[in-house]
Amino acid sequence: MPQRAATIVGGGIGGLATAVALHRRGWRVEVLERAPEFTEIGAGISLWPNALRALDALGLAGTVRDLGAVEASGGVRDHKGRWLSRTDTAELVRRFGHPLVVLHRADLLRALAEALPPDRLRPGSEVTAVRDDAHGPVVEHHHGTSRSDVLVAADGLHSTVRRALWPDAPEPRYAGYTAWRMVTEPLAEPPAEGAATWGRGERFGYTALPGGRMYCFATASLPPGTASGSTEHAELLRRFGSWPDPIPALLAAVPADAVLRHDLYELPPPASFVHGRVALLGDAAHAMTPNLGQGACQALEDAVTLAACLDGAPDTPAALLAYDRLRRPRTRSVARRSARLGTIGQLAWPPAALARDIAARLTPERVTLRSMTSVLGWTPPADATTATESEGR
Ligand code: FAD
Repeated sequence: MPQRAATIVGGGIGGLATAVALHRRGWRVEVLERAPEFTEIGAGISLWPNALRALDALGLAGTVRDLGAVEASGGVRDHKGRWLSRTDTAELVRRFGHPLVVLHRADLLRALAEALPPDRLRPGSEVTAVRDDAHGPVVEHHHGTSRSDVLVAADGLHSTVRRALWPDAPEPRYAGYTAWRMVTEPLAEPPAEGAATWGRGERFGYTALPGGRMYCFATASLPPGTASGSTEHAELLRRFGSWPDPIPALLAAVPADAVLRHDLYELPPPASFVHGRVALLGDAAHAMTPNLGQGACQALEDAVTLAACLDGAPDTPAALLAYDRLRRPRTRSVARRSARLGTIGQLAWPPAALARDIAARLTPERVTLRSMTSVLGWTPPADATTATESEGR
């Protein structure tokens, strides 16, 4: 079979992972990214065992583990700082073969980009138009026109490709809460355990990064577009400055101009992830709330699955339909679960929040972990045949 070509729109985690997956299987790939370079602002990112299995298939699990931090344990605390539940990393590894790895997003992006020949990466190439004609998909971008056998739309929540080829697909929907993310300066004595602290309509979480830094995240139930008081850092101090230790100390160690804030949106699933020889992938297909820390993990699963479906398949549209059948139900179920956890985590009415906390305290660790098996136990399909055979499992 002659070398096949894929154009990938978007050089985030999903797009780059797809490029690596296809490149490793002998495809000629081109990644069109509108930003002037392949990097992520942002803060930390947690990668669960299913993502590490996907990275394993890309030959990058070891590299990513070396770039990240693995905590001994972590869990959920109530608004007074009392533990409601705790998970031991050793138990996570025993059940799922990998720990939870947390790293800076920029490090993950760099690891993915470095796994590709540099001339396959086209920064500063915003895609402005797309069509799928009889000879294959065509995109127009700032540096010209690209034609290929397959087009992968990994251009995020507000995907240009989705809007062009899926005009009836539903628009992103506000989740009901906003999120802040930040990384502290290196701490002399970083907390030994990570935790998410559940308040009333607000949450604050933290987890270790390498080098003594901590990745922190917070949420608050607010109408979309609500402006913060003065600065985002001042807003965080106002909301969380008197929360239990170590939260005040963590906020004090965050540079005042280094707080990111985003209202959180999720994407109701389109009727299909596939249109002819074009496939939606990552947030462009299934943007979800971050409550399970699974958005990028699912994008990595997508990438590996898409490459397995396409590899050696003589009929590209049929291979893409297999990808759709494998990925749409799974990502739908993970997104639903993440949204449910968000609803519970954001409970604001004190009696409901108290009932939630009691239920969390009474749930044994093994029950929590067992309930995560369908999410964290994912394994990559080996090739097109197994991808098709494992459909619906
Ligand atoms: P994106 O990261 O959005 O990348 C899309 C890329 O396409 C961008 O580089 C963009 O510049 C480019 N682009 C857009 N339009 C065009 C165009 N027209 N032409 C060319 N390029 C274009 N997930 C986890 O797994 N673990 C976590 O801990 C986690 N925490 C999160 C915390 C928060 C607060 C949020 C909001 C999300 C979190 N996620 C997490 C989800 C995760 O960030 C996303 O699911 C993931 O980044 C999606 O990657 P992507 O490549 O699909 O999309």
